[in-house]
Amino acid sequence: MGDLASWHHEQLDRRLRLENRTNAVEQAQIVAANLLGEDRPYLPLPYFWTDQYDTKIQAHGFFPPDARADVVEGDLEQNRFVALYHRDGKVTGVLGWNMAKAARLHRGRVADAIGA
Ligand SMILES: Cc1cc2nc3c(=O)[nH]c(=O)nc-3n(C[C@H](O)[C@H](O)[C@H](O)COP(=O)(O)OP(=O)(O)OC[C@H]3O[C@@H](n4cnc5c(N)ncnc54)[C@H](O)[C@@H]3O)c2cc1C
Repeated sequence: MGDLASWHHEQLDRRLRLENRTNAVEQAQIVAANLLGEDRPYLPLPYFWTDQYDTKIQAHGFFPPDARADVVEGDLEQNRFVALYHRDGKVTGVLGWNMAKAARLHRGRVADAIGA
């Protein structure tokens, strides 16, 4: 579980390994439930946060290298923004940069796009 474990994400149909605290906790909860007799797939919308000095970063979803990023709230120059990442016409990720709450409000757009 956690950093060392990869698994097949059924909705995304791809193998994933996520290295963040949220995954370590949520994956462990599913594994524990399944060890106790449940049969629950692990289908998270990938998410991590990190504080880098005075910058608070929130990342929901995926950020493929070929995705296009559009700032939809805030302003790069003010060091506060929310960017949506798109690929093939779908929202793949939401990046919050010193705008955690606003980023969270856009999270559903990624979940809808990937069916998570
Ligand atoms: C510098 C740094 C900054 C980070 N910042 C963030 C952040 O801002 N946000 C975020 O979400 N995530 C962050 N992470 C990632 C996050 O810490 C990990 O994703 C998370 O701790 C993974 O949890 P885990 O339980 O899988 O592994 P770990 O937390 O690494 O736990 C593994 C444990 O196993 C023990 N162990 C190893 N080998 C053995 C052995 N042979 N026998 C017994 N015990 C053993 C280790 O000592 C350790 O206690 C950061 C990581 C680092 C290194």
